[in-house]
Amino acid sequence: MPPKHHNPGLPIKLKFPQETIIAFSISALSTYVLVPELNCAFDMGDCTLEAVPIERVFVSHAHGDHTRCLFRHDSLRRLMGMAPATYYVPEETVAGFTALAEAWSTLEGVRAGQFNPPRLKGLKGGDVVRLHRQLAAKAFPVRHTVPSLGYTLLDVRKKLKPEFQGRPGHELAQLRREGVEFENEVWVPRLTFIGDSTIETLYREPHVGESRILFLEVTFLLDGEQEMARRRGHTHVDDLVQFLRDCPGVLRNEHIVLKHFSMRYDRDLIRHTLQAKLPGDFLERVHVLI
Ligand SMILES: [Zn+2]
Ligand SMILES: [Zn+2]
Repeated sequence: MPPKHHNPGLPIKLKFPQETIIAFSISALSTYVLVPELNCAFDMGDCTLEAVPIERVFVSHAHGDHTRCLFRHDSLRRLMGMAPATYYVPEETVAGFTALAEAWSTLEGVRAGQFNPPRLKGLKGGDVVRLHRQLAAKAFPVRHTVPSLGYTLLDVRKKLKPEFQGRPGHELAQLRREGVEFENEVWVPRLTFIGDSTIETLYREPHVGESRILFLEVTFLLDGEQEMARRRGHTHVDDLVQFLRDCPGVLRNEHIVLKHFSMRYDRDLIRHTLQAKLPGDFLERVHVLI
């Protein structure tokens, strides 16, 4: 009898006040997170039709369950007459992904010299990309078994400098015409996506706790799997419990989405184990992606 998986592959809708996120994540099978409102996606383990219009894809790392359909996304967009999307990837993986895309296009009968490479942009930890006037992305290093990045999307807002506060609108309009800079930019962390990772990333990158929404992996749950989690570059639920004890107050996120559970667990086991192990005030903010 086949094992009882917690999800046969169906995307899950997470409705937040400012965005509806379409996501799926099971360890070794597939992970993708789509945020249509922001025209951004994270990882592309599968490419659903909702993913096709999205123009920016942030790739956490090159493991197949996170990237297998990256170039399917590119091909589908071309097929539908859309402009190429941009694929942000860890810089160490650009050459490998380009070679993979070329091999695929050869297999599909594209003649030598006709290969049109996908628009890959290599990033490293600390890089910032301004996506448009009101949105930016920051990459940060993530601890896994291969080069990996996490990403935070930030809302860029304008705020009046203190000396201009309380001035009437027509005066500000005049100042604008005169080219006076009367506003500062404020960057507000909105959504952070961490792909596969050990718990070390949270200790090293506490800023992830400032985003309104945080995606975290918890691949392993059972006793006896702690060492395997570490060896495979993943998080065990006990690691997360320990982190919450060591660093109380760091994860201030309104919503925390736990994902990437091992495919060997069924839904009841996941729910019961998380309820038994995680503190109640933390669980109030948790969405379990199953
Ligand atoms: Zn994975
Ligand atoms: Zn991985």
